[in-house]
Amino acid sequence: MIFFSGYIFKQNFLSAEIILYKNFETLLSVPSDFKVNPYKKISYDFDDWRMTVFSENFQRGDILYFEIQNHSFWRDTSKYQHEIIFSNFKKKVIFFHREFGFNTLYVIPPETKQKQIQFTWRILKKNIPVKENQFSFEVINNEFPENKGIIYLYKKEFSEEELQIIEKQILEEKKIKTEVLNIYKPLMIKNNLSYPLNYHEITSEWYKKRTFQYFQIRKRKKIFLERFESIHKGVDLKGFIGESVYAIADGEVIISDNFYFEGEFIVINHGNYIFSMYMHLSERNVNVGDVVRAGTLIGKVGNTGLSIGSHLHYEIRIDEFSANPLSVFGLPIR
Ligand SMILES: [Zn+2]
Repeated sequence: MIFFSGYIFKQNFLSAEIILYKNFETLLSVPSDFKVNPYKKISYDFDDWRMTVFSENFQRGDILYFEIQNHSFWRDTSKYQHEIIFSNFKKKVIFFHREFGFNTLYVIPPETKQKQIQFTWRILKKNIPVKENQFSFEVINNEFPENKGIIYLYKKEFSEEELQIIEKQILEEKKIKTEVLNIYKPLMIKNNLSYPLNYHEITSEWYKKRTFQYFQIRKRKKIFLERFESIHKGVDLKGFIGESVYAIADGEVIISDNFYFEGEFIVINHGNYIFSMYMHLSERNVNVGDVVRAGTLIGKVGNTGLSIGSHLHYEIRIDEFSANPLSVFGLPIR
């Protein structure tokens, strides 16, 4: 495993706080208080092809960036396609043609139990499989955080009629989310990434197990209602109402709406079933269908939906899996 050495320079077109890391060809905008971890990489050789897999730590939930290059002079690489099939979780991931070769992105699913990720690297010529071989890499079995305390949520009192309307709304929103998270587009992420805010402070970590307790006030007495556990599929970042929220990478807006749980809610499709989500906003500055770039101002921090206090809930979904949303920023994507 080899670590990168990039160089750093200050620029201020997004905000005075932003530092750009120019690392190979990747332009990364992150606040000065966000420490970018150097990536680790593993390379595999198969005939005259070389695949390199990059990840922050190869831990469960970490995003994986793959590149394939050919090192022969004579092979016409434009006739070829590449795909990998993960045997652990039965998923096929395709590669995209680029000037330098091929690339794609995926994730180590957080619920992966195996220590080894096995995959088949399949080479196709004019869409017909010509060769395949088995490869693997080791997963670092990280522990996920757990919140020992209980988070109390005030539950508004509704009439039967109001409850029915809310339930219908929640069902409808669930349907919309399922629909849009299945929209396929080719990978749109290019050599440009941006942190979603102008400074960095985590208030609730990704994949943290949390216990919630609903309560109501009746006759000035606190009445405790149902208790439930849930896993935090995003990361909560400190932010005050009205502060700018930026798109983390190039993509297309597929949800810009007010949802019951998510509040003012934006989802960006980055292609190859990769989606970034921004919740509890106070303002939305983009519409469905808008094409955004990394660093595009998409909205403002808020405290809408099921939220206690202003913050940004930022989330990345890859295929059906939740990914560690901060693990993308150290990757040398181009
Ligand atoms: Zn959250």
